[in-house]
Amino acid sequence: MITRTSLRGSALASLDARALRDTLPRAAFDVETALDVVRPICEQVRHHGADALRDLSEKFDGVRPDALRVPAEVLSAALDQLDPDIRAALTEAIRRARLVHDDQRRTATTTQVAPGGTVTERWVPVDRVGLYVPGGVAVLASSVVMNVVPAQAAGVESLAVASPPQRSNTGAFVGYPDPTILAACALLGVDEVYAVGGAQAIAMFAYGAREADGTTVCEPVSLVTGPGNIYVVAAKRLLKGLIGIDSEAGPTEIAILADDSADAEHVAADLISQAEHDKLAAAVLVTDSDDLAERVEQALERRVASTKHAERIRVSLGGEQSGIVLVDDVEAGLRVVDAYAAEHLEIQTRDASAVAARVRNAGAIFVGAYAPVSLGDYAAGSNHVLPTGGCACHSSGLSVQSFLRGIHVVDYTQDALREVASVVTTLAQAEDLPAHGEAVTARFER
Ligand code: NAD
Repeated sequence: MITRTSLRGSALASLDARALRDTLPRAAFDVETALDVVRPICEQVRHHGADALRDLSEKFDGVRPDALRVPAEVLSAALDQLDPDIRAALTEAIRRARLVHDDQRRTATTTQVAPGGTVTERWVPVDRVGLYVPGGVAVLASSVVMNVVPAQAAGVESLAVASPPQRSNTGAFVGYPDPTILAACALLGVDEVYAVGGAQAIAMFAYGAREADGTTVCEPVSLVTGPGNIYVVAAKRLLKGLIGIDSEAGPTEIAILADDSADAEHVAADLISQAEHDKLAAAVLVTDSDDLAERVEQALERRVASTKHAERIRVSLGGEQSGIVLVDDVEAGLRVVDAYAAEHLEIQTRDASAVAARVRNAGAIFVGAYAPVSLGDYAAGSNHVLPTGGCACHSSGLSVQSFLRGIHVVDYTQDALREVASVVTTLAQAEDLPAHGEAVTARFER
């Protein structure tokens, strides 16, 4: 079901970081390819607003929502009807996420550069954000928590959530997102929720949307965050610049670095747990142990056969984005996982904490036998919106910082400016921009 690649001996030694990255398993249908699909969708939303959103929902979600914005009474009905056990679990997940994200708040720093000259960095939240919550293959109420908690901790004043309308909804929820997603929004006090999914939701947030008669359906936002499938990620890449984005948080990836001390059943269960997300999800085991590789393969066969979503898990594990990579030792494994830059990286080796401390590139690291990725998906307190596709080598997961902008406030007295004037004029002349220097000397002419 899952292929093996050997990067032992000279096979690894001969590769530089970029070549190694290209050798590792990755999906062929990537974000770049999906751009061709989402470009016309985004243009349709830009030019035809709410009508386009309804047409696209009918096409991709199999349902035509009457009201694109979910009415307040539907949100409160979803919370009233929420199963008490799910409500308790969501409440605990929110509590843990708040503990972590409240600690991420930033305070202003003021640096005295010279007598009378200071630079202050102030942290200011964006005014309005669009938060995407997946609802295609699975409906991820947990992503409401992961988006909303850091946005609220950052102090964002205007929050809008979008999630695909569900064909299977009944009663008061026909044409709206999954009721548990609506209930999670209500639980967190979010009252602006749209029944719009996929690339069209990202375009709605970027351009705003109006009815044909000019009535506003959704005001544009400054920043879009949240996970999604390949089309959601492609739309974020396409519209970046017009809007800010968090990271390219696309189809899930798990990499596990394990030695012969790892439990093959745990490793197999964790690979399957993430393969369950999407046929494009990636599950990669990097190990120096042939014996572990063999036992994991056997455990995968047995476990996949008995799990609910076996069909899509088989596609994901059998795809070219998944595999077992054999290396000489944990040291070589560290090189491989750093080149791969996984969204989720589990370390299941002896001295797991010490090995984890040496990892440079990963969206989130899960250390040892008792930190499976699914803990982080729901209730570790960490954020589950994480960069994919190798973006973890330059981007971070969603956090309070994602919603803040650092603004430098420069405050110099006359004496402080006089003291540094010759530095400015010298550098301005060196760059052949004398007017820059004159803006300083003009202040000392009289
Ligand atoms: P989704 O809401 O992201 O996507 C569903 C939407 O995709 C539909 O509403 C539809 O509009 C659009 N769509 C479907 N097929 C299309 C096509 N052929 N052309 C154009 N648009 C199309 O839900 P999903 O599909 O379940 O995907 C959720 C994704 O989020 C999974 O890939 C999962 O792995 C990922 N995820 C990532 C993270 C992360 O942080 N990286 C976290 C959680 C989930």
